[in-house]
Order: sequence, then structure tokens, then C-alpha cells
Amino acid sequence: MKPSLSSTTRVVALLGDPVSHSLSPVIQNAACAAAGVDGVYVALRCTSEQLPSLMQAIAHAGGCGNVTLPYKERAAAVVQVRSETVQKTGACNTFWSDGGKLRGDNTDVEGFSRALERFLGRRPKGQRVLLLGAGGAARGVLLALLNDGVREVMLYNRTVDRARAVSRRIGGRHVRVASTFNDVRDGRFDLVVNATRLSLDPADPLPLELSRLEHAGAVMDLVYGREETRFVRAAREFGVPATDGGEMLVQQGAVAFERWWGCDAPVDAMRAALEAERRG
Ligand code: NAP
Repeated sequence: MKPSLSSTTRVVALLGDPVSHSLSPVIQNAACAAAGVDGVYVALRCTSEQLPSLMQAIAHAGGCGNVTLPYKERAAAVVQVRSETVQKTGACNTFWSDGGKLRGDNTDVEGFSRALERFLGRRPKGQRVLLLGAGGAARGVLLALLNDGVREVMLYNRTVDRARAVSRRIGGRHVRVASTFNDVRDGRFDLVVNATRLSLDPADPLPLELSRLEHAGAVMDLVYGREETRFVRAAREFGVPATDGGEMLVQQGAVAFERWWGCDAPVDAMRAALEAERRG
């Protein structure tokens, strides 16, 4: 069923920069139609300075939304009521208004966990993980991995101080920060997760030379697009099972949908919309 727009339609907005690559409008508008809710999902590119007033104005008008790169940490400071995952990660990707207050959640945590379990066929309990990146998304991934009982996470980011700050906030005895690539080069990892923005642009270098990671058990790239990412292709060519961020997009979007609309998300319809879009 196609949504019909009217004066009562609730606006759900994705705020970030860039947003043009995002397939959230595809899955969320399909979800609105499948669940029969009166909403429309749009993507708005904005600056960091514009983010707080946009979030407040959209929520004030009865709307809600998502926040994407590079503003998830800033969004956590804007919301007035923070979910436990926002408090723990200092990152927020979902906002809405309730009782006159701007509320925020980090649905990347549950979304990543569900997508990873679907990919691996089990939770990553006991695994050794290399996590690339220390931005808003990496914070959610780190919390999810620790919640799932991994043995160790090696955190590697271009800006080491940012990785240290994330480790101090979320980590603990299970997290180690790599200062240089040499620290990770010869490691044995059951799982490598790319939570940098590299491979968003096809001209980007790989976030990690897979040929130097002899013992990677599996690769999960948070980045997704209409086609497989270069990192996923490179991992598979190297014989490593790999998946991109498509399923995480669906799963984090499903949790966000439940926050906004107070009903179960039509996950199958969301996944089908993503697959149809990718088939072109
Ligand atoms: P962010 O907060 O802006 O963080 C960007 C990360 O990428 C930082 O770790 C940054 O390192 C790193 N980076 C940027 N340019 C780099 C370069 N040239 N070389 C090496 N590292 C570089 O963004 P985010 O919100 O964490 O999102 C990261 C990616 O995950 C995005 O592509 C986003 O679309 C994707 N994501 C996907 C899903 C999903 O559902 N599939 C969910 C969340 C995020 P520095 O700290 O050194 O700048």
C-alpha cells in the first residue's frame, strides 16, 4: 500500500551529512506503508550547528527521526531524556518527543547485535574482535559486542585519542586500543568490523588491507550501498565470509520504528524493500 500524504502525516527525518547515500527512506517508507501508519520519512542534510534546532523543531511539530554521521555524539547532548544505551555510548541515532521532552535512543546497539547474530548464526560470545573506527557508530558496536560477551575487542582508529576516549567510556578490561597498524597486523581475529566511513565512497581506500590479516574469521562492514562494498568484495576474494551493513540498517531501523510508532516493525517488508532497491 502506498502512503497517502495529508495534513496529518507525521514527518520522520534523517539528519546528517552526507545523507544522499542513505537507504533509510526506502526501508522506513516501506515500513509505514506495510504497518499502515501515517508517516513520511525524508532525508535532510544539515550542519552541526543546525542539528539541535532541527531536532527540536521536528519533535515540536510532532515528528521524530534518525541522526546519522557525523552527528550521533552531538545528538546525544541535544536530547533531554537519554536511553540507557545513549547514556552508555554517548551517541544517539533516534529521537522523538514524549510528554513534551525530546527523547533519544541508540538503536545501533540492538541493530548491530541482531544483524551480527543473523550473519554468524550465533552471538559472538568468547570471540576476539578487531573494531575499526571510533565514531558514533563504533560506540554502539562496541557496547553491543561487550553485551554479547566477546573475549576481547581491539579498537583501531585513525585518530588514536578518539579510540582511547571511546575505550575509557564504554570499554573495560575486555578492550585494548591499538596505537598503530603494527599492533593489529599479525593478530588473529574471529571477526573484523568496519565502523569507519571508508568504503562509503567507491574511491576510498580499504579500511584495512585484508591480505595482511591472515587469520580473520569473518568481516562485517557497517557501510552499505546499492552494491556490495569494496571491503566486503575484498574479504570474499580472500576467502573470508563477509557481509555489509544492509541487515544492520534494517534491524536498527526496526527498533527505531518501534520507538516512533509504538508497534512492531514490519521487518520482512523493510528487508524486501531494501532488496528490491538494490536489485534496481
Ligand atoms: P562518524 O561518527 O563520522 O565516524 C567516522 C569514522 O570514520 C571515524 O572513526 C573516523 O576516524 C573514520 N574515518 C573517516 N575518514 C577516514 C579516513 N580517511 N581514514 C580512516 N578513517 C576515517 O560516522 P559514524 O556515524 O560512526 O558512521 C560510520 C559509518 O558507519 C558510516 O559509513 C555510516 O553510514 C555507517 N553506519 C551504518 C549503519 C547501518 O545501519 N548499516 C549504522 C551506523 C553507521 P577519525 O576519528 O580519525 O576521524
